[in-house]
Amino acid sequence: MKKHNFYAGPSILPQYTIDKVAEGVKNFAGTGLSVMEVSHRGKEFVAVMEEAVSLFKELLEIPAGYEVLFLGGGASLQFAMIPMNIMQKKAAYLNTGEWASKAIKEGKFFGEVVEVASSKDRNFCYVPKNYEIPDDADYFHITTNNTIFGTQLRKDLDVSVPLVADMSSDIFSRPVDVSKYGIIYGGAQKNLAPAGVTFVIIKEDILGKVDRPIPTMLNYKTHISKGSMFNTPPVLPVFAAVQTLNWLKDNGGLKAMEKRNIEKAGMLYDEIDRNRLFKTTVNDVEDRSLMNICFVMNDEYKELESEFMEFAKSRGMIGIAGHRSVGGFRASTYNALPKESVEALVSVMKEFESDK
Ligand SMILES: *Cc1c(COP(=O)(O)O)cnc(C)c1O
Repeated sequence: MKKHNFYAGPSILPQYTIDKVAEGVKNFAGTGLSVMEVSHRGKEFVAVMEEAVSLFKELLEIPAGYEVLFLGGGASLQFAMIPMNIMQKKAAYLNTGEWASKAIKEGKFFGEVVEVASSKDRNFCYVPKNYEIPDDADYFHITTNNTIFGTQLRKDLDVSVPLVADMSSDIFSRPVDVSKYGIIYGGAQKNLAPAGVTFVIIKEDILGKVDRPIPTMLNYKTHISKGSMFNTPPVLPVFAAVQTLNWLKDNGGLKAMEKRNIEKAGMLYDEIDRNRLFKTTVNDVEDRSLMNICFVMNDEYKELESEFMEFAKSRGMIGIAGHRSVGGFRASTYNALPKESVEALVSVMKEFESDK
């Protein structure tokens, strides 16, 4: 039976990426060796790293003055590295979920954190809209897609301080105006590559303003000056990322991805809204994530939750359990998820409804 992969992360990758990585694991760039067993300083892998940077710049139309880094430590390490490198005294954060809360916690190790707004009062089921950012904040941190709660901030905000965005789970899902951001970062394992590499797009002129000493490995300047090769980079995930980036390019780039993502998510939200058994946990249409679609049983059908889970599983739906802090279901519809998988889930929901 065909499996439909709705995992939230690590998550579905294009078949193209998987095939190309399988090839490279056996015979990398005609070397007769595996990509896993060659020097990261050899010309073949240096070319991979350069291609990764240039495809990021091309697909996201990154303007001059920005650097693209590939680091270890996950998005979670960036929660600390960002304030360590750019918080002089104070930073502002928008609290839209668990990852944002974790970023806030790390920010507090380095200075004053102003939480400008939070949607915690309603279990993070919306994105706060009206808030003020202090003019003297060194930056404003947002999480563009809240992987756990299924909300998304889909426009590039205009703010008067450097904008810092965790885009772990929606990078490359739509065109982004990079010029509006000081830093864009994320773990690659949602929409780009296997786990193990973290991308950081950074505007160089926001660096060099803090007084605190920064350990070498945690200093962005180290990695900028060495082109992400100060120490051994996550070779295999970077190699995989290049394959996905080429796949994105061959499939029409970010405008085409956005169009497909709107269509796929729309199909599923329409069914959740229509089907009398289910409801979404994110009511404001504007806040609904195109990447992680959270839904639960309607109140009068609560007792059917585990039955639906089993029913869906038996029809090849993988990874649709909601995160424990939301419950119910979550279908992640990342770039690589084909429209056919959404259609399959929709028909499973219809079929289940017709029996009840
Ligand atoms: C998954 C996720 C993270 C955590 O990433 P790690 O690479 O595991 O540290 C952070 N932020 C968001 C929005 C995520 O979805």
